[in-house]
Amino acid sequence: MGKTIIEVKNLHKKYGDFEAVKGISFDVYEGEIFGLLGPNGAGKSTTLEIIETLRDKTSGEVFVDGMNLDTSPNEIKKIIGVQLQTSGYYPSLNLVELITLFSGLYNEDVDPLALLDKVNLRDKAKAKFKEMSGGQKQRFSIATTLINKPKIIFLDEPTTGLDPQARRNLWDLIREIRNSGTTVVITTHYMDEAEVLCDRVAIIDSGKIIALNSPDHLVDELVASGFEKPKEVKQANLEDVFINLTGRELREE
Ligand code: ADP
Ligand code: MG
Repeated sequence: MGKTIIEVKNLHKKYGDFEAVKGISFDVYEGEIFGLLGPNGAGKSTTLEIIETLRDKTSGEVFVDGMNLDTSPNEIKKIIGVQLQTSGYYPSLNLVELITLFSGLYNEDVDPLALLDKVNLRDKAKAKFKEMSGGQKQRFSIATTLINKPKIIFLDEPTTGLDPQARRNLWDLIREIRNSGTTVVITTHYMDEAEVLCDRVAIIDSGKIIALNSPDHLVDELVASGFEKPKEVKQANLEDVFINLTGRELREE
């Protein structure tokens, strides 16, 4: 277990009279993949955007790599990578042009082709953003989070809407990013994904954290409480059938 790189203490967020985040506290350790799970409207994106310095909090304390969000937001921005909404990209620029544009904004000297290599998109260097598949767009948007060589990246539902191969391909990419030393904070609605990808998860419901631990530990706890699946679990599921029939390789022309 690494040192604490994000510390959230008693965080509250109100939108008018509505309290979307109701006093949550959690730590993220350096080098882990930390998952925020929870139904729509639970407050996941709000929490991420506050840590990312993109949204004001109502109260509470946030420290990122030891820096206080209240006093050092600009310093925090320099060490984090944030996935922008893909709709915000200039659709007619090609990938190299987009990376060059973003590098300029970050004032970073980046080799576009080396970056595209990292996310397996070098052969799409001259393709326009709008011409790519959903999985390629997500991989590209993850590449843009790496431009400023961040210590932490935040991914808000990066695999929503992707087919099973593209999803697995993204898991591999996220693991590679973590293995190269970057801490990853991710939200997802796919529990299978959280189970294989996340070192620890926080489950948020209606603005409160109701569980926080490793997926393995949470499952063991449920089993120890006497929970039993209503019927015999098969050794495979329909997704296994799909992957077995169609293969693991990506299908992106
Ligand atoms: P999640 O990402 O878990 O789906 P969000 O953080 O997006 O949840 O939203 C949490 C709650 O806050 C939801 O009820 C949502 O409708 C509300 N909310 C989010 N953004 C705003 C906003 N800008 N103004 C008012 N309410 C908002
Ligand atoms: Mg959200």
